Amino acid sequence: MATLSIDPRVSVRTADFVTTDHRMLIDGRFVAAASGKRFPVYNPANGEVITQVPEAEAEDVNRAVMAARRAFDEGPWPRMTPSERGRILWKLADLIEQHTDEFAELESLDNGKPFSVARVGDVPLTVDMFRYMGGWTTKITGKTLPMGMGGEYHSYTLREPVGVVAQIIPWNFPLLMAAWKLAPALACGCTIVLKLAEQTPLSGLRLAQLIVEAGIPEGVVNILTGYGEGAGAPLAAHDQVDKVAFTGSTEVGKLILQAAAGNLKKVTLELGGKSPAIVFPDANIDLAVSGTASAIFFNHGQCCCAGSRLYVHEKVFDRVVEGVSSIASEIKLAPGLDPACQMGPLVSDEQYRRVVGYIESGIAEGARVAAGGPVSGVERGYFVRPTVLTNTNPRMKVVQEEIFGPVVCAVPFGDKDVDAIIRRANDTIYGLAASVWTQNLTMAHKVARGIRAGTVWINCHNVFDAALPFGGYKQSGWGREKGEEVLNNYLETKAVCLSLQS
Ligand code: ADP
Repeated sequence: MATLSIDPRVSVRTADFVTTDHRMLIDGRFVAAASGKRFPVYNPANGEVITQVPEAEAEDVNRAVMAARRAFDEGPWPRMTPSERGRILWKLADLIEQHTDEFAELESLDNGKPFSVARVGDVPLTVDMFRYMGGWTTKITGKTLPMGMGGEYHSYTLREPVGVVAQIIPWNFPLLMAAWKLAPALACGCTIVLKLAEQTPLSGLRLAQLIVEAGIPEGVVNILTGYGEGAGAPLAAHDQVDKVAFTGSTEVGKLILQAAAGNLKKVTLELGGKSPAIVFPDANIDLAVSGTASAIFFNHGQCCCAGSRLYVHEKVFDRVVEGVSSIASEIKLAPGLDPACQMGPLVSDEQYRRVVGYIESGIAEGARVAAGGPVSGVERGYFVRPTVLTNTNPRMKVVQEEIFGPVVCAVPFGDKDVDAIIRRANDTIYGLAASVWTQNLTMAHKVARGIRAGTVWINCHNVFDAALPFGGYKQSGWGREKGEEVLNNYLETKAVCLSLQS
């Protein structure tokens, strides 16, 4: 039995799993890296190493891709009846649900997020994603097509799986991001090589065990642990991969695109954001205060759709900023497994330095700190205080760039002209999400139409559901995750045209 020294609050079962000799899933077997190399996994609440995992490199990537290739070309998965595939996805969902507490512990330990949040958020959303996509397996259909040019033909489309899919995911929602990628690709009959984020491999490795237990045939899902350059890059470039689906930074998204060019594999990208939350004076202000605070502070701001630009009408600016700042000041920072935790540490030392660097750059450029600031006051771990900046201007780095931390820039607007605030909201390279806070329906829908982003929330923010498509305009990405739309990422359309002349 493992010692609980990794964190005394962790259950014995989770501690045993964390300290086990971790293996990657390739071709239905749990294996070490070909090189034997491993790399450390850290607890962000104290910076200590909690375990080691295999370090996949090009040789492992190749083994995994060739296993997925065989499973696609010769194996049962793409040929199985849709209802059988759906049944297996439901079984996997049930298994994950049965291990809810264990997954929540792993997410909390590895990523730093509060256990309580992972338990009611990340894990149930993951379960629902597999169930929702299990339902789609039987509803993927083509169309019959009347031919405009006349003649006697029977024409129709077939929707077929795109083939071997490479999936590369980030660390902010480790299990849920795996589900967003795996569930639709599996529903469509694809086979997969999934590379987990190097910062947070634990829940994905546990999921690999349940994937085998659920009866997904060997080679259909292969799960690798490794770094971006060592494992992600050869995976994105591999010529036996038909499609790559990536979630992460816009910068790496552009590298994925270049790597994919060799064999012109299909690409979908879910990238960065700098999402505006716009509060009009007629909004329910209490709701807007708590909603816009959670828009930025949920998951410690480590959400690509975090409401990091808070535009508030000048009539209610002071009230909203004071409200959000007071929530920020009261948030209890603690390790994610501490029952008192309301906000855990950021995921890594690198992320900690990056976010603190942004706060310092904002201050240096003249921003005022209404709450938080660069010093957390917590001795160990990668904690950053939820921070509210005012007195910014549109060209500051903190206003333009994605911080990916609990830092919001509050900006007043006084425009009567709604188009002016829409223009300001659209004034970044990103277009992932936005929220509008108002009781005026006309205004809400007008802004929803004007915003160039893949999601607009009205009187809410960060609401996720398997049924809602999610993705970006502009440099926030290509394609959509979730909903019916995600199926397009993993399907090819074949036109079949039969002459009825004999
Ligand atoms: P973040 O900045 O949020 O860590 P990244 O975009 O760097 O996000 O990483 C997201 C995922 O992309 C991770 O799984 C990472 O290992 C992977 N990755 C990083 N660099 C590359 C690369 N050059 N090629 C492929 N994958 C990469």
